[in-house]
Amino acid sequence: MPDKRQHDPAGDQQMGRGFVAYTFLESGRTELALYSAFLNYRLADDTLLWVLQDTIYCAACQRITMGEKLPSLEDLAAELKLLDDHDTFTLEGLAFLERDPEEHRQELLRRIKWRGDRQSPAKCLHCSSTEIHSIPSRGEFDHPVTGQRLDVTDEGWIDAASWEAEFSPEGFPLDPTNIG
Ligand SMILES: [Zn+2]
Repeated sequence: MPDKRQHDPAGDQQMGRGFVAYTFLESGRTELALYSAFLNYRLADDTLLWVLQDTIYCAACQRITMGEKLPSLEDLAAELKLLDDHDTFTLEGLAFLERDPEEHRQELLRRIKWRGDRQSPAKCLHCSSTEIHSIPSRGEFDHPVTGQRLDVTDEGWIDAASWEAEFSPEGFPLDPTNIG
């Protein structure tokens, strides 16, 4: 499995990663949730399926970080129906992302199969804990555990250490030492 930290002895390989910045209004402290474009489930047929990610507070990590997003089968079916109905908004969105609709359709079918087989709840992508709380990615809200007031103060792209990893269909890292 490719691991940038092994391939690059200098370590510290940087790449643009999506982020959401959360500021605690009382202290002014900021925590970042970082997305990675290189997280995949390795499925039983040995194909890869990109990991949908959700901004979370992880009680085990005790910080804001990134967790799995487990879409409902209903939502995935609705997404597939929009695609099959040639929904304009859906097709425009794919065109914007330069995604081929048929490729996207095949991925959706694989995601629906994966989701139907998935047993366990969503996990923290860094520590595999299921003690996670999904948090909003915009606006002000109360911290789900401490109740502190939080505000999403920034979002976009940032240069950060690259993180490339594979997970089992249940969301466990295949290389437990590669936890981002
Ligand atoms: Zn965690």
